[in-house]
Amino acid sequence: MSDSDGKKPLGLGGGRPGQVKQSFSHGRTKSVVVETKRKRVVVPKPGAAPATPGKPSLGAGDPSRRPAGISDAEMERRLKALQAAKAREAEEAEARAAEERAREEERERRRAEAEAKEREEREREEALRLKAEEDQRRAREAEARAARKEEVRKPAPAKPAPADPAAAEAAATRAATKGVAAAGPRKTDRERDDRGGAPDRDNRNRGGRDESRRSGKLTLTEALSGEGGRQRSLAAMKRKQEKARQKAMGFGQKAEKQSRDVQLPETIVVSELANRMAERAADVVKALMKMGMMVTMNQTIDADTAELVIEEFGHRAVRVSDADVEQVIDTVEDKAEDLTARPPIVTIMGHVDHGKTSLLDAIRKTNVVSGEAGGITQHIGAYQVTTPNGSLVTFLDTPGHAAFTSMRARGAQVTDIVVLVVAADDAVMPQTIEAINHAKAAKVPMIVAINKCDKPTANAQKVRTDLLQHEVVVEAMSGDVQDVEVSALTGKGLPELLEAIALQAEILELQANPDRSASGAVIEAKLDVGRGPVATVLVQNGTLRQGDIFVVGEQWGKVRALINDKGDRVQEAGPSVPVEVLGLNGTPEAGDVLNVVETEAQAREIAEYRTQAAKDKRAAAGAATTLEQLMAKAKADESVAELPILVKADVQGSAEAIIQAMEKIGNDEVRVRVLHYGVGAITESDIGLAEASGAPVIGFNVRANAPARNAANQKGVEIRYYSIIYDLVDDIKAAASGLLKAEVRENFIGYAKILEVFKVSGIGKVAGCLVTEGVARRSAGVRLLRDNVVVHEGTLKTLKRFKDEVKEVQSGQECGMAFENYDDIRKDDVIEIFEREEVERKLS
Ligand code: GDP
Repeated sequence: MSDSDGKKPLGLGGGRPGQVKQSFSHGRTKSVVVETKRKRVVVPKPGAAPATPGKPSLGAGDPSRRPAGISDAEMERRLKALQAAKAREAEEAEARAAEERAREEERERRRAEAEAKEREEREREEALRLKAEEDQRRAREAEARAARKEEVRKPAPAKPAPADPAAAEAAATRAATKGVAAAGPRKTDRERDDRGGAPDRDNRNRGGRDESRRSGKLTLTEALSGEGGRQRSLAAMKRKQEKARQKAMGFGQKAEKQSRDVQLPETIVVSELANRMAERAADVVKALMKMGMMVTMNQTIDADTAELVIEEFGHRAVRVSDADVEQVIDTVEDKAEDLTARPPIVTIMGHVDHGKTSLLDAIRKTNVVSGEAGGITQHIGAYQVTTPNGSLVTFLDTPGHAAFTSMRARGAQVTDIVVLVVAADDAVMPQTIEAINHAKAAKVPMIVAINKCDKPTANAQKVRTDLLQHEVVVEAMSGDVQDVEVSALTGKGLPELLEAIALQAEILELQANPDRSASGAVIEAKLDVGRGPVATVLVQNGTLRQGDIFVVGEQWGKVRALINDKGDRVQEAGPSVPVEVLGLNGTPEAGDVLNVVETEAQAREIAEYRTQAAKDKRAAAGAATTLEQLMAKAKADESVAELPILVKADVQGSAEAIIQAMEKIGNDEVRVRVLHYGVGAITESDIGLAEASGAPVIGFNVRANAPARNAANQKGVEIRYYSIIYDLVDDIKAAASGLLKAEVRENFIGYAKILEVFKVSGIGKVAGCLVTEGVARRSAGVRLLRDNVVVHEGTLKTLKRFKDEVKEVQSGQECGMAFENYDDIRKDDVIEIFEREEVERKLS
């Protein structure tokens, strides 16, 4: 029996149930529990009848059929031999059966393995198709391959291994594809088995997790997250992968509102704004409507409005003031060592007639005053003078009329020092205060020139005390503002004034770098007959040279010639030098900045960009009207009559002066509206605009060109030429007056007192009156006054004198009067008689 014990491993564990896979068609499989029964070997006890009737060949099995003559001993020996033979035979049969079973099992296992392999193949293909977890999958494949190798290796030393590990393996692999839960516990079994066989692989693949596994315990979390991570269903892995990808691509927080940096130029079309915020255009239009802006998505809005919208949507506005094209303009900060002193730029300000022009003139020693048309300085230039101590000073030839206020404000911006002219025979006047405010706002230091000190009525001290009220404390009053008594007429004090300027300039430490591309400001621009557009530029930094390519405002050009303040051609102009620049492609505006650039292409590009930007801005200003504005305009349109005009002038300064003068014309009922103004000849497009609006075209020191003249004749557009602003203003006033409704003026003509009240049938109540003053007239209007209170106003129904209907009753005479539609008249009431007349009005 020890033999059969030794062979135990070959069998199925002595009837232990095992699992065998059954295959069906369509690739379905099923594990079934099989129980293999071992053939019972019965060894008959000595003397006992054999349990199974053996072959009676020798008759050994049956003692009763024992041949006679055989001894007992022999018999026993034979019996033993027979038993041994039988046992051997049984054992051999059993071995054969076991062998057969093992072969069967091996086949079974191989089939299961093949199936597992095939399934794995399918899985891999699927995984490949889904591109899911490339690395993890590779790791698993590697593992699976290792496991297969292991399986192949395993049967050699343990050929008769029970079928269940293979079946379990197959089941586990199958479970892995179907769900995690089923895989868990079974896997652990397998893991434990596997680990025994290949601990290296486990360590390699699972690292630190090995420890927890070896403990044999498996929590649900571990089952799901640890090994489960790899063994999760493909769908789960796919979801995970997809999530990671979406997160990486930024779709992750769809629910969360994204805050963006929105690039915001000076103007933007609504739809483009929506685009940049990644919002719907309709929503943006809606938001604008809520803000009171009636715009469509194709309209342009300004940056301020757009910024409000951007904030409304929870984004951030990033203002981009200049387009990329502007970046070629050299804006590098100068190094301290490159800087050298530059002359101060001085603007003379003050009230009209306080002697600004005279003073400028006296300083320049030329007579500008006599050349003025209409008494207004129309040419704005600049010039340089040398002070007694040899330094240079640049004077801006700023006009002094109130119409030039805007120009002066700009002048103050390029200005380093303001000379405030106050006439000693006058006092601080409105424009003096304006000038003080301009200087203070621009943070420009002032020097007070007390002018007309030659006059006997001059009182310089009064000027100084007057200035105190406006927080200008001069040195003579222990302040820090220099004051100089001058006379433009006699030239007294002028050297002192120049010295004061030089001193102030020294304090300011004005510096510039002459060795760089020039930048400057346009002080004046005009369209010159023969020379084309000309701009007077005050170089602020760098040096402007002949041949330089530049961009100035919306224009560009190449310096053809530079002409200085003395009318001489120069090759270059350094800091603080005013020069006339020739070679522009168009007329810039006063206040425009000139920048030298490297190439014509750059200059042209910047100019084009600025032109477009300005156009957009104008469109935005026109389009983006708030509701209030719309309503105010509608209201205004009802009551205010407008006289539209177009203005073309020779220089910017004149044009601006005219605009300002025009703005002052008019009142609550009438106003002048300047549709368009510009510098240069009157062109066909001006005529077109004028025709569309029914406006006359005003040419100030300019004429219409031939096509414009023809167009004007054809279209019936009026062109008027002027060279004196006052004439222009008077004419426009007269024209605007024509728009005024005639005034109805009331003239008092008489009083009558009621002496008695009668009742007359057919007429009603009639007052018997005495005309106390003036006349009573039938056609006139009447008021009934009772104790000096008007109780009725109307007309007369009848005016009688001695029963006769009359037209007029003179003072001192009695008469009868009855009111139209009014009866409540009493004794002692007073009747006021008046007439109305319509009077043509004029604008003052
Ligand atoms: P603006 O309007 O400030 O430019 O003043 P103007 O230079 O046109 O001068 C106005 C008037 O004052 C002119 O008649 C000048 O002759 C006169 N005027 C200017 N400066 C002086 C001065 O220093 N003394 C005297 N007596 N008259 C002056």
